[in-house]
Amino acid sequence: MPELPEVRHLSHQMDGELRGRTIAGVDVAQPKCLNVPLSEFERLTVGRTVTKVTSRGKWVFVTLEPGSMFLLSLGMGGEALLHAKGEPVPDNRQVAFRFGDGSALSLHFWWFGYAHVVPSAELSSHAMTSRLGLDPLNEVEFTWSAFDYLLEMRKRSAIKAVLLDQKNIAGIGNVYIQDILFAARLHPMRKAGDVSSAERQDLYGAIRSQLRHALELGGLAYEKDLYNQSGGFKDFLVGYREGKPCPVCGTAVQKVKTGSTASFICPSCQT
Ligand SMILES: [Zn+2]
Repeated sequence: MPELPEVRHLSHQMDGELRGRTIAGVDVAQPKCLNVPLSEFERLTVGRTVTKVTSRGKWVFVTLEPGSMFLLSLGMGGEALLHAKGEPVPDNRQVAFRFGDGSALSLHFWWFGYAHVVPSAELSSHAMTSRLGLDPLNEVEFTWSAFDYLLEMRKRSAIKAVLLDQKNIAGIGNVYIQDILFAARLHPMRKAGDVSSAERQDLYGAIRSQLRHALELGGLAYEKDLYNQSGGFKDFLVGYREGKPCPVCGTAVQKVKTGSTASFICPSCQT
C-alpha cells in the first residue's frame, strides 16, 4: 500500500501536471469505489477545473473549482496514471477523468481504493479524511511537543500501534514503520509510556528522516508514479530482510508477529 512518500510524490506530480486542466468527462467502471451515485459524482466533477493537488496521509486531495474536492485513496497496489492526448487509456481502469485538452487521468485499484468527491464546504464531514492525524513532514504541525503529547495520550498502547494509527500520525504504514523503529532502536511492542524522553527524541527524528529520504527517492521501488515509473527506494535497514545481518550489529533480522501485523526487527538492537 502506498504510504506518505509515494502519495506525496504522486500529489506533487499531479499538482504540476493537472493544474488548469478542466474535466470534460468521467468514465466509471466500478461505481462501488465512489461515495455518491454516479450522476452526483459527474455533477461535482465534470466542467470543473483542477486548481491544486495536495496530500495528507494516504489520501490525495484535488481541489476542483468551483467548489468541489476530489479525494483519492489508492488502497493496495493502486495506480493513478496520466495519459497524453491520443494515448489510449488501459481498459482495466475503474475510473478515468477525461480532460478538455484531450489528456486523461486513469485510476486503477487492486484493493480498497476510493474515488470520492464532496462539495468543498462539506469536506470536514467526509469521515475518512476528516480524522486524519498530524502530517509528519509538516514542521508547523508535527512539532516535538505535539509528538511527545501524542505518546503521553496513548501511553498504554504499543509504540508501533500508536504510530500506525492514522488518527495520530497520517501516512506511516507497515512498510516504513520497520526502519523507523529500527533507527530509534525500539521494539514494536514497547508501551509508548515506557519510551524515555531521549528515545522519543530519536524516534521523532527517525520518523522525519526516514520518510523524507524515501520521498526524495520518489517512494518505493515497487510502487508506480503518475508516469508509470518506479520509485527509487529499495534499501531497507531491517524491513523485509529476515535472516540477513543487522547493519549495526550483525545479528540476524527476525520476522515477528506484533498484534495484527508482522514486524522485522533486530532482536539485539531493538529492545
Ligand atoms: Zn542489531
